[in-house]
Amino acid sequence: MWFFYLKNYTILAKKILMPIIVFDDTYFMQQALKEAQQAYEENEVPIGAVIVANQRIIAKAHNLTERLNDVTAHAEMQAFTSASSYLGAKYLKDCTLYVTIEPCFMCAGASYWTQISRIVYGAKDGKRGFSKINSEILHPKTEITGGILEKECAEIMSNFFKSKR
Ligand SMILES: [Zn+2]
Repeated sequence: MWFFYLKNYTILAKKILMPIIVFDDTYFMQQALKEAQQAYEENEVPIGAVIVANQRIIAKAHNLTERLNDVTAHAEMQAFTSASSYLGAKYLKDCTLYVTIEPCFMCAGASYWTQISRIVYGAKDGKRGFSKINSEILHPKTEITGGILEKECAEIMSNFFKSKR
């Protein structure tokens, strides 16, 4: 009989002590959203990005165009630089970029040079999103997934611009 108690106790302990974290696209997009929130608080256009290699975040960034007075300081650009510096390699093969808003033409163009394996974005950008021109701007090896936490990613942007009006 004792082992039943032990088993139940173990299950209970696991439930309390070890909440199950699934490292999937949604999880990593949530981390990118935290970066977007950070940008929001700094009065930057709230776009966040993380780069993941082997299920580990190797770079986190958000838009810094105001702070750096640099229109090229998009979240993705910061993340590429940071990931390359972490890896000590210019190419981001076997890496995934998670970004809350579809990359613009500039960032998609930069991603080509990194040869990144995958790009996952939240909400589409109907005005400046790269897919408006065409997807050939991406490296042929780059897989693309859109629409992860789309609502949340779009909402933080619309809230930001509403607060500006
Ligand atoms: Zn961009």
